[in-house]
Amino acid sequence: MEIKGKKVIITGAARGIGKQMALDLLALGAKPYVLDVIQENLDILKKETGIPGKVLDVTNEMDVVAFFESYGAENGAADVLINNAGITMDGIFVSKKGDEIKKMQLSAWQKVVDVNLTGVFLCGREAAALMAKHGVQGLIINISSVSRAGNFGQTNYSATKAGVAAMTVTWAKELAKAGIRVAAIAPGYIRTEMTDKIDQKIKDKITAQIPSGRFGEMKEISQTVKFIIECDYVNGRVLEIDGGLRI
Ligand code: NDP
Repeated sequence: MEIKGKKVIITGAARGIGKQMALDLLALGAKPYVLDVIQENLDILKKETGIPGKVLDVTNEMDVVAFFESYGAENGAADVLINNAGITMDGIFVSKKGDEIKKMQLSAWQKVVDVNLTGVFLCGREAAALMAKHGVQGLIINISSVSRAGNFGQTNYSATKAGVAAMTVTWAKELAKAGIRVAAIAPGYIRTEMTDKIDQKIKDKITAQIPSGRFGEMKEISQTVKFIIECDYVNGRVLEIDGGLRI
C-alpha cells in the first residue's frame, strides 16, 4: 500500500512510540488521526504538528463504537489502524517476604487486560467493520511486545501481548476474504520516557543481553510500521524488533 494520502488511525499516540509513528507518517504524506486519553497531550500534538485527534478510552465499547461511526460518516473507513495504546502495571505473581505472601492484585491484572487486550479487540473490530462496509482493503497493525513470550514481573502484560499476537494471526486468516491485512510488531526495549526512568544499573544488565548492544529507538518501530504498510506481502506475522534480544 502506498502511504501517501492514506488515512491512519493510531491509538495511544499523543506521546511515546505512537506519537513518533504519527509524526513519521505525516512526513510521508499520510493523514494520521490520533486517539488518546489526555486532552492536553492531544492539544500539544495538534499545536506542534497539526495532527488531529480525539479523546477516546479504548476500553469503553460504547465510546469506541460511537467514534468509529462518526469517523466513518465523515471520512469513510481508515486505510490503516495502528493498535498502539498499551500500559504496564508490573508486579510479581506471588512472592514471599518473611512471613508475608504478596500477590498480584486482580485490579492490576484487569486494568492491563482492559487496555492491552479489550482495547485492541474493540478498535480492531470497529475499524475492520468499517473497512469491510466501505470495501476498503485496509491494514491493521497491532503492537505486541517481546514480553509475549513471558517476562519476569509481567504476568498481566505478557498475557495480553501474547493475546495480541494470537488475535493478529486470527484476524489475518478471517479478514483475508475482505482483502484486509493484519500484522503486529513486538518491540524489545525501546528508549522512551518510561524506559529512560529505569535505574542505570538495571539498564546496563538489560543492555548486556541485547546482541545489538543498545535499546531500540522509537524511530526504529516507526520504520517497521512504514515497511508493513508498504510491503503488501506482510500478513499475519509478528515482526520482532528487539535488537536480537529474543534470539
Ligand atoms: P506510552 O505509555 O509512552 O504511551 C502510551 C499511550 O497510550 C499514552 O499516551 C497513554 O496515555 C495512552 N493510553 C493509555 N491507556 C489508554 C486507553 N485506555 N485508551 C487510549 N489511550 C491510552 O507507551 P509506549 O509509547 O512506550 O508504548 C506504546 C506501545 O508499545 C504499547 O502498546 C506498549 O505496550 C508497546 N511496547 C513498548 C515498549 C517500550 O520499550 N516502550 C516495548 C514493547 C512494547 P497516558 O498519557 O495517560 O499514559
